[in-house]
Amino acid sequence: MPTFGNSQRWFQAAGQLMPGGVNSPVRAWGAVGGSPRLIARGEGPRIYDVDGNAYLDYVGSWGPLILGHAHPQVVAAVQEAAARGTSFGASTPGEVELAQILVEAVPGLEMVRLVSSGTEACMSALRLARGATGRGRVIKFDGGYHGHADSFLVAAGSGVLTQGIPGSPGVPPEIAGLTISLPYNDLEGVARSLKQYSGEVAAIFVEPVAGNMGVVPPEDGFLEGLRRLCDQEGCLLVFDEVITGFRVAWGGAQALYGVRPDLTCLGKIMGGGLPVGAYGGRKDLMAQMAPAGPIYQAGTLSGNPVAVAAGLTTLRALNQPGTYESLEEKGSWLARELAGAAGRRGVPVTINRVGSMLTVFCTTGPVTSLEEAKAADLGRFSRFFQGLLAEGVYLPPSQFEAWFVSTAHRQEDLESTVAAVERVWAGMVGH
Ligand SMILES: *Cc1c(COP(=O)(O)O)cnc(C)c1O
Repeated sequence: MPTFGNSQRWFQAAGQLMPGGVNSPVRAWGAVGGSPRLIARGEGPRIYDVDGNAYLDYVGSWGPLILGHAHPQVVAAVQEAAARGTSFGASTPGEVELAQILVEAVPGLEMVRLVSSGTEACMSALRLARGATGRGRVIKFDGGYHGHADSFLVAAGSGVLTQGIPGSPGVPPEIAGLTISLPYNDLEGVARSLKQYSGEVAAIFVEPVAGNMGVVPPEDGFLEGLRRLCDQEGCLLVFDEVITGFRVAWGGAQALYGVRPDLTCLGKIMGGGLPVGAYGGRKDLMAQMAPAGPIYQAGTLSGNPVAVAAGLTTLRALNQPGTYESLEEKGSWLARELAGAAGRRGVPVTINRVGSMLTVFCTTGPVTSLEEAKAADLGRFSRFFQGLLAEGVYLPPSQFEAWFVSTAHRQEDLESTVAAVERVWAGMVGH
């Protein structure tokens, strides 16, 4: 029997020192119960906890680690960059190189600004949208997560959703009142809302593949329809590609679906596991940011050389022939085999997937919106999670999150995962 004594002791100590014992809410495992594992190290597709237990990891640091843990090239790049100095508060060539790669890869990016997190990217893009349009309101979608800036904590996904709270105390109603949250994949709802608030909406923020209520793909025509409505109404279309950027395709979801936003938010993968984000888009809009223009945004550690080195190395490793074909193959194999196992065991699930991101919803589905995602049986999900953990498979500790497959997951890892899932399902009485 594996033991978790060290994890338990660390987590107890943490509880006295940090709210909930964690530095980000979902890490506390509130939705699935049990004592979170503290992680000692990772290598390839695996992580190892402080008691020495190994897990096949499908969290991948919540998305960034598309090359797996401690990728040798990324580690070397970080070491070399750190040895040259960790921060200068002045520009470095690496920032220019990273900006160049981003602008070449992502269709809607003509200019870009590096920041230190996805939250910062979305918060800054919203300020730019408001500054450029002179309008105050913003539309987002139920279950969409755009970081924790005040304006986005309305019917938000990810940890907010997992905790079962609709918003957050501390966000004044005057601010929250400017945010309109609508059902995902419902174009008519967007059209109605734009009509009602005509001339007042600065931007529509959307995850072009939703990843923070579990994976929910855009239905045919949804993203195209948003583009059309934004053009009609003179508001900006902002794709939050913090998860999907460099995940679902080299150029992100906008390349995959062929819809060009006015602004794009990036994070996660582009930082290679270090704290980085970026926002960018049309040149005429980006030119309004300080110091080129009047809209202010800044950061002491923005474009940090160590983080940029990790990002550059990660993106260069991804930009090889066959990378995304191989990720697509792994993702589709896994989803297909999981569906097969569910069928054999008579377990009702809906599996949503785009490329190497997927969610197994404990419901018969379909799942095209937050409303439908919430139909999932959360008790059944926690038993599934705990069962897999005991099998040495580490899933996101919430139903409303994406599993991520990395380039480091080998076919035999995927096979052992499916075998473990089938054993867990076989043992779940009444599922
Ligand atoms: C993770 C995430 C963010 C926030 O990024 P942080 O780096 O955690 O601040 C924003 N948008 C989406 C879609 C995300 O998944």
